[in-house]
Amino acid sequence: MKINAYAALEPNGKLEPYSYELGELGSEQVDIKVSYCGVCHSDLSMINNDWGMTQYPIVPGHEIVGEIVAAGEAVKNVKIGDKVGLGWFSASCMSCQECMGGEHHLCASNESTIVGRHGGFADYVRGHWSWAIPLPQAIDLSKAGPLLCGGITVFNPIILSGVKPTDKVGVIGIGGLGHMAVKFLKHWGCEVIAFSSNPNKKDEILGMGATKVINSREPEELESIAGSLNFILNTTNVSLDWDSYLTTLAPKGKLHTVGAVLEPMAIPAFSLIGGEKSVGGSPLGSPALNKTMLEFCVRHNIYPTVEEFPMENINEALEHLEEGKARFRIVLKN
Ligand code: NAP
Ligand code: ZN
Repeated sequence: MKINAYAALEPNGKLEPYSYELGELGSEQVDIKVSYCGVCHSDLSMINNDWGMTQYPIVPGHEIVGEIVAAGEAVKNVKIGDKVGLGWFSASCMSCQECMGGEHHLCASNESTIVGRHGGFADYVRGHWSWAIPLPQAIDLSKAGPLLCGGITVFNPIILSGVKPTDKVGVIGIGGLGHMAVKFLKHWGCEVIAFSSNPNKKDEILGMGATKVINSREPEELESIAGSLNFILNTTNVSLDWDSYLTTLAPKGKLHTVGAVLEPMAIPAFSLIGGEKSVGGSPLGSPALNKTMLEFCVRHNIYPTVEEFPMENINEALEHLEEGKARFRIVLKN
């Protein structure tokens, strides 16, 4: 089967039309005809080899929605014709402690959709049935893609950290992930403070349900909310004044990062000790939690705010994201 895709051939390279042959379909694999694919900052980081693990040529794209067009004979849960999503993970071992415990996203031998194999900026993509997440019938396919990576990445920490509807929470960085976090937390019942470095986004962020927008790069502004937040979710990949953020936490509060901060984060021990505060991180979420999240989205009509580009305008879309202009998640349409 010949796949028509877009690939970067070297670090920081523009994407170019690229075709490759998919070998024989494995017994537990499915092939998905890609309808839409979101553009995540991790695609940029992988194209630029920021994490030192990119193999070129790379076909990025891991916020995929589409239709199953082929299924191996041992595939369970999904079938040809089903509308599914495929995110950052494309396979898990299905037998380790984590997989058996339903936490496939923590499987040490997970396969990632765009690491050492090819992703969704293409007409077709392949994955293991366990990560082909069935989409609810009522979902808007044109906006669902970003939920499969960005969405689940910010939904999981809400569950993991036991965020309560009565909590006062913060979200740092209102980009693709951050704006979905604001929407989820608002519908969870929380009071949400947004930390953004871009004053132009303020009105839109308030429109998503945040009660206040604070400059993420101004430690003095953070002082005004000292000791008040139960939970803070960081979605940026840059170095901020983490100690000032710890000061905004109430006792027992947690600073959780999903943003892949490139430099080590400076966390003074005494800023944690006194108030029994903690710092954590997490990758995506399990297939079961993806299902729960999608149902939550349909129930509350929660969608990412998207800008649609034709798939062939992929380089324009990546530039738009890199320049910080995306409002708030780009989706490519095939
Ligand atoms: P994005 O759309 O580019 O959003 C990132 C936001 O960070 C920007 O919109 C901006 O928000 C803020 N920001 C950027 N540069 C900044 C700076 N110099 N100072 C202060 N704030 C800055 O990216 P994304 O797709 O949401 O991804 C965010 C991060 O999560 C990336 O590192 C990505 O690789 C990572 N990620 C992790 C996982 C996981 O499993 N843990 C999954 C997906 C993505 P404001 O304009 O509001 O300041
Ligand atoms: Zn992603």
